Amino acid sequence: MSATSPIQWTDATWNPTTGCTKVSPGCAHCYIERTPPFRMAGNRFVHGKTDLEIFHDRLEQPLHWRKPRRVFVNSLSDLFHEGIGDAFIDRVFAVMALTPQHTYQVLTKRADRMRAYMSHRPVGELKDRIDNAACVFGACHANIDDESHRWPLPNVWLGVSVENKRMRDLRVPHLLKTPAAVKFISAEPLLEDIADDEVFSTYFYSGWTEPPYDDVLNWVIVGVEQLAGKRVGRNAEAYEQHARTVLRQCASAGVAAFHKQMPVHGRVSGDPAEWPLDLRVREFPKGVALDC
Ligand code: SF4
Repeated sequence: MSATSPIQWTDATWNPTTGCTKVSPGCAHCYIERTPPFRMAGNRFVHGKTDLEIFHDRLEQPLHWRKPRRVFVNSLSDLFHEGIGDAFIDRVFAVMALTPQHTYQVLTKRADRMRAYMSHRPVGELKDRIDNAACVFGACHANIDDESHRWPLPNVWLGVSVENKRMRDLRVPHLLKTPAAVKFISAEPLLEDIADDEVFSTYFYSGWTEPPYDDVLNWVIVGVEQLAGKRVGRNAEAYEQHARTVLRQCASAGVAAFHKQMPVHGRVSGDPAEWPLDLRVREFPKGVALDC
């Protein structure tokens, strides 16, 4: 866990699991093995896999944070990795339900499993499971019930990574059908233009609405590929135009966008003061701003 984070769109990271398996082109230069916990443990990708570790003793960490924070869940893993059982995910959701002062940002490349987990039928059974998981933390009821609209949890944002059109078309439809208070995509690393066709714009307009959530995107993060250090990935030259297309589509739909980093003179810059004016966009979903 880190009570602060260098990731500009969050305040803190919480890693009840670490380790992962590469699943798509966006994983090619995955940063997790370059982070201190992995370097110190000598945990590197071998044939696309690092050791997956599950830390029950880290589950309680957010219960001790009083100040409201945006918390990136599993920045060093993927909560919906096939090696993580539903019972453990239930406990993660129980902690999130017990700490409504925090806003949790869950980002996955396993959109199909996230959708299946969140849409478990009957949904009452899933809420009971999470309620029961809360007992582990000395609070035998996480107070999730239909009447108070606490499902999907209002403080949990769910997102999928979208590095190219193929992954967009594979993952976003699952996300849009996933119950979530806020739905977002992280287009980092952005490897090609994902917003130059009509498909992208349809994500901002609801086909059907089922309160308290609907099937539209609420937030888009975009960033250039970063290799080791501050080196820029292979799409750097085209990146600026691709990012501009994404940001313009968001602006015209009135959807919040967050530009994380871009190439500047051959390196990666996370400082908007160094960017063209029209690319200096750092917004959060409307109506869910944190008081912190
Ligand atoms: S899913 Fe994320 S954490 Fe896992 S290998 Fe890919 S980029 Fe890394």
